[in-house]
Amino acid sequence: MEREVRVRFAPSPTGPLHIGGVRTALYNYLLARKLGGKMLLRIEDTDQNRFVPGAEQYIMDSLRWCGIEIDEGIEQGGPHAPYRQSERKPMYRQYADQLIRDGFAYYAFDTPEELDAMRARLTAAKVPNPQYNSITRAQMRNSLTLPAEEVEQLLATGTPYVIRLKVPRKEEVRFQDLIRGWVVVHSSAIDDKVLMKSDGMPTYHLANIVDDHLMEITHVIRGEEWLPSAPLHVLLYRYLGWEATMPQFAHLPLLLKPDGTGKLSKRDGDKLGFPVFPLEFHGTDADGQPTVSSGYRESGYLPEAFINFLAFLGWNPGTPQELFTMDELIENFSIERVSKSPARFDQNKVRWYNEQYLRAKPDAELAQYLIEDLQKQGLDVSADKATQIAALVKERATFPADLAKEAQLFFERPASYDEQVISKKWNAPVAAALAEFAAQLPTAADASPDEIKALLTQVVEGQGLKIGQVLQALRVAVTGAAAGPDLMHIMHILGAQETAERIQAAVAALPVA
Ligand code: GLU
Repeated sequence: MEREVRVRFAPSPTGPLHIGGVRTALYNYLLARKLGGKMLLRIEDTDQNRFVPGAEQYIMDSLRWCGIEIDEGIEQGGPHAPYRQSERKPMYRQYADQLIRDGFAYYAFDTPEELDAMRARLTAAKVPNPQYNSITRAQMRNSLTLPAEEVEQLLATGTPYVIRLKVPRKEEVRFQDLIRGWVVVHSSAIDDKVLMKSDGMPTYHLANIVDDHLMEITHVIRGEEWLPSAPLHVLLYRYLGWEATMPQFAHLPLLLKPDGTGKLSKRDGDKLGFPVFPLEFHGTDADGQPTVSSGYRESGYLPEAFINFLAFLGWNPGTPQELFTMDELIENFSIERVSKSPARFDQNKVRWYNEQYLRAKPDAELAQYLIEDLQKQGLDVSADKATQIAALVKERATFPADLAKEAQLFFERPASYDEQVISKKWNAPVAAALAEFAAQLPTAADASPDEIKALLTQVVEGQGLKIGQVLQALRVAVTGAAAGPDLMHIMHILGAQETAERIQAAVAALPVA
């Protein structure tokens, strides 16, 4: 029988979730949904030293904002609860013991000083990468080198120890990565990793493998930085007797800085001028001072746009289509189309996505953003008017907050007039034509943009001018600025009276040559 697809996102709560982590969660989620499987959220908090308060909640809030739904996890519960590794501590010991019993792991009693001395010795002997491994372990104090009675005695007297994996000296470890194909690593390149620390806590490696096995995970989809650990994990599956149900691995490509010069790190974001975190994060720096890191949500990004953008950082559907809802992503996603090569972050692209999603929203929904933002400025606007304004200015907006910025012209008369346009386009005949237009405007109350344009044309031509000669001057008279949304629509929304008064004010204020 086919196994049910079960994937997990397994972050360590060591700080806010980086966008690379969100992408990992997203690809896991897409695969789970596509194949009718389950998505788990497991919190890997065995490294208590790196624990950051609030990070766990932040991770869950971020996934929720992104629309990544979790089927089993610390909030949802599930058949393999608990889903927080610190609460699973008693489960791991037996597997470390099993490995020792079967000859695949050993006790190591070396003190920190002895480990330092070993590294110093190897460095002095010009060994490139000093490690506790199949060669050096022979000189160390462990259950492979010490007599059995001494080991018994050390254990009985409570001497601190760690449990290390006994990595074979000469063996090729191979596995097939769904993105990279066959990965082959020689065991001499792998060190005897600590599986269980002296405080009885498992390390990442042991806890991760035990949990993936017990939670019946079928696919491990994670960042490229975990590729070097994968051969070790393959050995663990083998030694624990779980090779037959070992999950399939897929290591995702790196996310690079926009200029391609290196990995996009947690520290880059605000320095490079864009957020690297989904939500704003309030933390502390090394000196305990409060810090705030910006987030996509607070910067005005819509979750649909953010997710669509992230999906394309390392994956593409193989067609020109760029806009995908979550459901469409699920339908189209496949691990085979995830690229091996690193993906560059593109700030213009994420903005572009936001524009597409913002502008595609119904005008009445955009009007709500506008009403709220204007209310903060003490400006009241009817839903109908807000809808008209939103429809007009949305083409100039990247973020919801841009709508209110673009809408200012409807609530403030020009404080100044664009000088370039005035010096080129403002003259006596133009001012006279505009004054006449203003005089006639009240006859066109409630006129449509087209009717306003017809009136303008008629007045201007009646004065022997062409409409092209007055349009820019009129825009500056009504809005103060040289550019903006469609002028006929602006006048329509302002209404005949307000438009006329603005034109009259400009005619009075601007001298003619
Ligand atoms: N806890 C690891 C992390 O923080 C999990 C890596 C994995 O998915 O195996 O990314």
